Amino acid sequence: MNTIPHWINGTEVTGQDTAPVFNPATGAEQAQVVLGGAADVDIAVTAASAAFETWSESSLTQRTQVMFAFRQLLVEHEEELARIISAEHGKTVDDARGEIVRGREVVEFACGLGDVLKGSFSDQVSRGIDVHNFRQPLGVVAGITPFNFPAMVPLWMHPIAIATGNTFILKPSERDPSAANFVADLYQRAGLPDGVFNVVHGGKNAVDAILTHPGIEAVSFVGSTPIAKYVHEQATSHGKRVQALGGAKNHAVVLPDADLEFAANHITAGAYGSAGERCMAVSIAVAVGDAADALVAVLERKAREVKVGPGNAPDTEMGPLVTKAAQERIENAVTTAHTQGATIVVDGRGLKVDGHEDGFFTGPSLLDHVTTEMDAYKEELFGPVLAIIRVNTLDEAIDLINANPYGNGTALFTASGEAARRFQRNIKVGMIGINVPVPVPMSYYSFGGWKDSLIGDSPIHGPEGIRFYTRPKVITTRWPQPKQQTTAGFNFPTSS
Ligand code: NAD
Repeated sequence: MNTIPHWINGTEVTGQDTAPVFNPATGAEQAQVVLGGAADVDIAVTAASAAFETWSESSLTQRTQVMFAFRQLLVEHEEELARIISAEHGKTVDDARGEIVRGREVVEFACGLGDVLKGSFSDQVSRGIDVHNFRQPLGVVAGITPFNFPAMVPLWMHPIAIATGNTFILKPSERDPSAANFVADLYQRAGLPDGVFNVVHGGKNAVDAILTHPGIEAVSFVGSTPIAKYVHEQATSHGKRVQALGGAKNHAVVLPDADLEFAANHITAGAYGSAGERCMAVSIAVAVGDAADALVAVLERKAREVKVGPGNAPDTEMGPLVTKAAQERIENAVTTAHTQGATIVVDGRGLKVDGHEDGFFTGPSLLDHVTTEMDAYKEELFGPVLAIIRVNTLDEAIDLINANPYGNGTALFTASGEAARRFQRNIKVGMIGINVPVPVPMSYYSFGGWKDSLIGDSPIHGPEGIRFYTRPKVITTRWPQPKQQTTAGFNFPTSS
């Protein structure tokens, strides 16, 4: 059986401990991935530290040229990478292609680094004195990423970290590890020097080694909120910069003036696309006023139409869940919701896909009359379950969302500009869609939620990514004329 190795200093590195990697569509174990620990992380840090000495001295042009070449390779190998992702994650090949394209946009942002990294210059701030600033890379930085976007989420991090002159260690999810090695190979072919991009596979041991290693300057994390809190606490207490993005519970509000067919179409895709395993998935539909009954009727029809199957079949719209444990957790959550009083409008439990009876499939589930006390509302289910909550007014919907501990994404479906403006100004959520169900910002903006969806204060990629992976210097300069007579004052200097 294929063993997926680490990638350190431009070569594959094996290890003793391994974990199984499954094909979620068949339920079969298809590979083993090595599980690294402190020794592997230390080897990677040594390689990345040595590479930093030269990479951080390379020119801006040289670094962006690597990014242009890397982008081109991502285009040429999109199909291959999408199939690798689909085979380990379970999502459809088209959906995997989508995550590659969205991740590639961050590479494109990094290709324009020359513009965004420009410092500023102030002439004659005092007589004969000028001030300018610029930013420098941190050193060795690390990224710890979740299973649900094995290409895109790491791409939120490493192109910006590397283009700004850092060297990078990626610890991808152990559930779908192959995309990281594929990307490492593309970087090498793009001309990136060995040791600049490294992959250490593993679980908690590898993560703990990263969080405590004195040679790592910064940690980017994306995953569930409890682990984001842990990572933030551990890494900051070891003196590192941390950006830590957590889980979500995203509400889509539908006002009575919305085009219900349009709203239901987009909410269905946002809820069940990628089997609900997206941090920006719509998990709650908030039906306002007399929109509710009609909305539920359309959502029911659309949920029943979703084509569930293996991710590599051309007509599949929704693939399996990532693991057997996830499949069981979701089906139990639907049972619990029913026990707690929710109405099951569409029941996805027990779905069998012909020829894939052992796959980790569950069908789309639609729950009505859900309340804020129910587990289906309180917990991040991270599966194809859409819960409907009924409220009377937009302000009630806003209060409901603001009381939720998460604040990643939200959407409003309406024909009213006034309602949309009130919503976007008053909602305590980081990313908002107006008639857009999954409002993932473009790479030249930054991505990040509020409250428990982002621990600390640093969103990811875009301008915040540049800030995160660099530190500023401000230089105050005077070039006196030869033999110019001046007096040095003993008071604190002020401008004159
Ligand atoms: P996860 O938190 O279980 O794992 C994320 C990473 O942390 C993985 O690399 C994993 O190996 C590591 N990890 C897991 N348990 C650990 C532990 N006890 N100690 C140290 N490290 C540990 O998340 P997941 O299940 O892979 O991904 C799904 C979660 O990620 C969801 O909560 C989803 O909302 C979130 N997510 C958030 C965003 C965002 O932008 N906010 C994006 C994608 C996913």
